[in-house]
Amino acid sequence: MPVTIFDLMSGLAREHQAINLGQGFPDDPGPLEVRQKAADAVLNGWNQYPPMMGLPELREAIAAHYARFGGLTLDPASEVMVTSGATEALADSLLATIEPGDEVILFQPMYDAYLPLVQRAGGTPRFVNLNPHDWSFSRQQLEEAFSNKTKAVVFNNPHNPCGVVYGRAQVELLAEFCMKFGVIAICDEVWEHLVFDGREHVSMMSIPGMENLTIKIGSAGKIFSLTGWKIGLVAARGPVMNALSKAHQFNTFTTAPNLQIAVAHGLSMSNEYFFEMRKSFQQSRDYFHAQMKIAGLPVTCSDGTYFVVSDIRAIGETDDVEFCRRLVREFGVAAIPVSAFYAENPVRNVVRFCFAKKKETIDAALVRISKAVAAIRS
Ligand code: PMP
Repeated sequence: MPVTIFDLMSGLAREHQAINLGQGFPDDPGPLEVRQKAADAVLNGWNQYPPMMGLPELREAIAAHYARFGGLTLDPASEVMVTSGATEALADSLLATIEPGDEVILFQPMYDAYLPLVQRAGGTPRFVNLNPHDWSFSRQQLEEAFSNKTKAVVFNNPHNPCGVVYGRAQVELLAEFCMKFGVIAICDEVWEHLVFDGREHVSMMSIPGMENLTIKIGSAGKIFSLTGWKIGLVAARGPVMNALSKAHQFNTFTTAPNLQIAVAHGLSMSNEYFFEMRKSFQQSRDYFHAQMKIAGLPVTCSDGTYFVVSDIRAIGETDDVEFCRRLVREFGVAAIPVSAFYAENPVRNVVRFCFAKKKETIDAALVRISKAVAAIRS
């Protein structure tokens, strides 16, 4: 299996003492009260194996949280599971749902874990290339991709790397095909809280008829800016959850209990915390967007996530990998070439930047990016 682009670019960033706008982690230390809960729980609480499906208080908190924010009705005892990160949940989902030879639809560009996980689970990938103009997909593309061989589709909304939040019309279009072909939608919704400009995140599971066909995957690491915690929040129903829990049982079985207690507390925090968190990331996005325009390398104003993308043709560049190598080696800023998120027919002129950094970090990066743009243009 390949080395992930994130490791590769972070390695180059370290080697060249670069500012890392490549990997998606914020400078922010995360909410103190949540970290405090984890510390208290490790010192004073239970540190032995928690139940396989997750601590009951966390499963209850997840069900209540998704009732509050996603309009979902979930039974905490049977329809919610805790995993070691969304990544484990993705692996469990694929191991649980596909048999060797089954087809799995993947939208490109795609989060880098999907393809190796599909392949190691014995699945055959079918790629749908998102339209680089707005990263949408069409009815015709789904008609060409779905067939009786399709077992699952992996759908990432909000989308990393593109920063797109798919609205109800796109979610319903995909749901229509899943229902027609009885396909399981493995929905990577780790960025569900990071949606900007008053947008609503539409969970696939909330679409009538998709309740029993959806695996909903969230990540506490993303919700609380604690990306190292690796706590996955999974919702699924009936036989799908039954199969998923078996895969989880033999993958990791369980997840650190102190972090589960802290996440249960975090998920129950007031609406204000979540709105403020969104607002502050939106401000960072707006700042980065405005300053990149001044620096001469415009970026899209993303709908959500920690990311924005830039079309490097604006400065006469056509090879994202070469551009990123030069940016990190000569100018000391790490970014991610979006072609790395494709298995075939990549778009080669788009680069992803993470704006979820302190203002000082962004400002220092912007000085370097301006120099890079000037040098490339001269
Ligand atoms: N899916 C997507 C789309 C992501 O961006 C990430 C994290 N970058 C993950 C999954 C992994 O989440 P976790 O750290 O909880 O495993």
